[in-house]
Amino acid sequence: MTTRSTPAVGIDLGTTFSAVARLEENGRPVTLVNAEGDRVTPSVVLFDGDDVVVGKEALKALATEAEHVAECSKRDVGHRVFHKALGGKQYPPEVIEAWILNKLRQDATAQIGPFSQVVITVPAYFDEVRRKATQDAGYMAGFEVLDIINEPTAAAVAFGFQQGLLAPEPSSDQPVKILVYDLGGGTFDVTVMEIRGTDYVTLATDGDVQLGGYDWDQRLADLVAEGFIREHLLDPREDPSTAGRVWRDCEGAKQTLSSREKATIPCYYQGRSSRVELRREQFEEATLDLLDRTRFTTVQTLRAAGLEWPQIDRVLLVGGSTRMPMVRKMLREISGKEADTSVSADEAVAQGAALRAGLMLAKRHRKRGTFHIKNVNSHSLGVVGVNPKTQQRRNGI
Ligand code: AMP
Repeated sequence: MTTRSTPAVGIDLGTTFSAVARLEENGRPVTLVNAEGDRVTPSVVLFDGDDVVVGKEALKALATEAEHVAECSKRDVGHRVFHKALGGKQYPPEVIEAWILNKLRQDATAQIGPFSQVVITVPAYFDEVRRKATQDAGYMAGFEVLDIINEPTAAAVAFGFQQGLLAPEPSSDQPVKILVYDLGGGTFDVTVMEIRGTDYVTLATDGDVQLGGYDWDQRLADLVAEGFIREHLLDPREDPSTAGRVWRDCEGAKQTLSSREKATIPCYYQGRSSRVELRREQFEEATLDLLDRTRFTTVQTLRAAGLEWPQIDRVLLVGGSTRMPMVRKMLREISGKEADTSVSADEAVAQGAALRAGLMLAKRHRKRGTFHIKNVNSHSLGVVGVNPKTQQRRNGI
């Protein structure tokens, strides 16, 4: 699907982390490691005078010079300027996104040589303004953007590849219905798709641009701050660098609670200190309303697709926050199924985008593609029809 001179590259431009994948000569997608040797790069940018630093070091700087650091800029894409002035300057969110893409390009170039053609993913419910802004960020970073595709579609394509459904002789010609539950760092998406042979068809999609792992972190940070106020009559959130440090410790504690039953969160501010001991149940109780928002959207989206749980063959988990046991438990409860974790939650989207890039390049070289994506840029919210015979609701696009 790819030629030696034009690598097929896919980019998952995430709210908190980004990843890059390419297709190997044999058509298999692989995730590239960045200059720091990691498979994901924090989508964080430090504006340090004339220096712009992206990734791990920028993330570290959040604890010491938060007023120069842009994090979660994807949440603001589509707005005129990023919600926070950085070192006294205001930047459009797509400029911040362009810096992230630029770092991804440089690191990937060091491994696979120069390239410019890429497919970039966005949440399924991104509207045209946000898609266009993402495309602009790509151009600013020196890319030719072959396509902008939906993250859940990309994840489904990676899943289809892994299951052998993209092969010239697919392993099954039965339609497969999947629900993709994607809870990342800053956004939540749920999409119901049908894989019909080599066609990927979106039946319904919905999501929340203001909901992600970051909100779970903030909830913990609020608990820590409230405890600190009770003990010392001081709010550590007043100082941006202390708030940044508290957030990082809370994010760490949240991850610990995915594998252990308890975690401790320290907090130091103005010479005072506190320690919050938290059990997993307490964490789950404090964040239940956030999980409930995802449950509600999931059920609504299934309904909008005109389906019931028994008709769903697989529930695919995408996004780092799906590692929280509460997510898997909730999905098991509502679907009666164990979620499928066969594709890597962190890499599936970039790999699916690389497969799509391979297809686009193959078409340009007049080779036959092996799969088709329908409604790639669809925005299915609000277009629901009712089948008069069954009274079932169905996505009308
Ligand atoms: P993504 O945008 O898909 O890379 O997801 C990033 C989000 O996943 C961040 O909010 C992380 O804190 C969260 N995350 C990653 N690993 C874990 C884990 N083991 N438990 C809970 N959340 C996690």
